[in-house]
Amino acid sequence: MKRSRKVLLTLITVIILAVVGVFAWFFLHVFEGERPEVIVEPLPEFLSKGHRFTLEAEDAKGGLRSLRVSIDQAGREVTVVEKTFPYKGLFNSNGVHRHEVAFEIDPLSLNLAQGRAELKVEVFDHSRRGGGDGNRSLLTHSLTVDTMAPAIRALTRLHYINQGGSCLAVYQTSSDTEKSGVLVGGRLFPGFPSDDKDASGRYTCYFAVPHDMDADPPILLWAEDRAGNQTRTSFYHRIRSKRFRKDRMNITDGFLDRILPYFSFFPFSGRKTPIEKYLAINNELRRQNHQALETLQAESGPKRLWDGPWMRLPNAATMARFADHRVYYYQGEPVDEKDHMGIDLASLANSQVPAANRGRVLLAERLGIYGQAVVLDHGQRLMSLYGHLSSIQVSEGQEVKRGEMLGTTGSTGLAGGDHLHFAVLVNGVPVNPIEWWDPHWIEDNISKKLSILAEP
Ligand SMILES: [Zn+2]
Repeated sequence: MKRSRKVLLTLITVIILAVVGVFAWFFLHVFEGERPEVIVEPLPEFLSKGHRFTLEAEDAKGGLRSLRVSIDQAGREVTVVEKTFPYKGLFNSNGVHRHEVAFEIDPLSLNLAQGRAELKVEVFDHSRRGGGDGNRSLLTHSLTVDTMAPAIRALTRLHYINQGGSCLAVYQTSSDTEKSGVLVGGRLFPGFPSDDKDASGRYTCYFAVPHDMDADPPILLWAEDRAGNQTRTSFYHRIRSKRFRKDRMNITDGFLDRILPYFSFFPFSGRKTPIEKYLAINNELRRQNHQALETLQAESGPKRLWDGPWMRLPNAATMARFADHRVYYYQGEPVDEKDHMGIDLASLANSQVPAANRGRVLLAERLGIYGQAVVLDHGQRLMSLYGHLSSIQVSEGQEVKRGEMLGTTGSTGLAGGDHLHFAVLVNGVPVNPIEWWDPHWIEDNISKKLSILAEP
């Protein structure tokens, strides 16, 4: 008797504990207090045209009940996306429930006003807490609605550009402009703001029509504001097409014997004969050198350093012109062709080389096919290059005046004899230096235009 009562008591205790346990488990699941987690990406500062977002929400136990994305502008709330999710049942509710929702916010179709707005993301889970609404998580993010494109207009009126030549445009932008410049066939030449307070919003921009570009590429003013709105505007311009000369270059064994030792630093992997090595230099190394110049132009400063016509190597004869199309012959056969992207000037051997204009030394060392070279920055993406030098007298970072000696002419690199390879680059694009040596061209195409900056 005593024994059976003991067994019964134990049984009742076990049943009570089990019931309490089940209730506790049920209560903790159904009334759980863990909030769902929510992440939205990206969280931009500005909202311009239709932006895409992704929302990731996560909830343990009961899972997500609903989510709502809205935009609030001074109390006016617009729903962007609203979703509800079914309850998976008590016994499927363990683990983590994840939801990913992609949505777009288009200020125009949602009829949002320009200015401040609050992005709100509200999610609820399936808990019975909060009077049955569930646990709530709220994410808010302040942003600015801006769908207005910046304004840009040319202040200079005439823009005559020679194929392979340079041009200057002065333009005015609205104050929200962050980036601007001139697009030539899709390539951007950046403009630089005037630091004169009376000329605020006015920019100078040097641009070029590459010598090998299709006839009449589209040339447009371009601006982008902080919100990413862009404007493209046409402005008056005329391109004068040019014919460039052809030149025959005979490569002799004597020439190869003389120049190849200089290029011992170049990995000729697999190339055995002198002409094979030469072709590797004329193609691969040339390409690397032009890439290096492209990289270098990003270091050009925002201020104009130069003034007046540019200096040419004194008492020098022109040996090769800008954009000469050279066909290279070896043992009577054409083996390569390239365009000559500068002007070759020859004077007495080891002549002093003056800086063409005021600038800052960006490079003063070996530059592949150009041998010992100096590159000057004249500001606002205008650079000059001096190649094949026998000695360099300046160092990187040094400021030089117009006419200051940079080094002496020579025949280092890919050079047939003592001469200076002189090049002018606009935003990394080689242009015809003849324009920059011509005081009339400078007066008409640069100086007169720059005076607009000073106008009221
Ligand atoms: Zn040259």
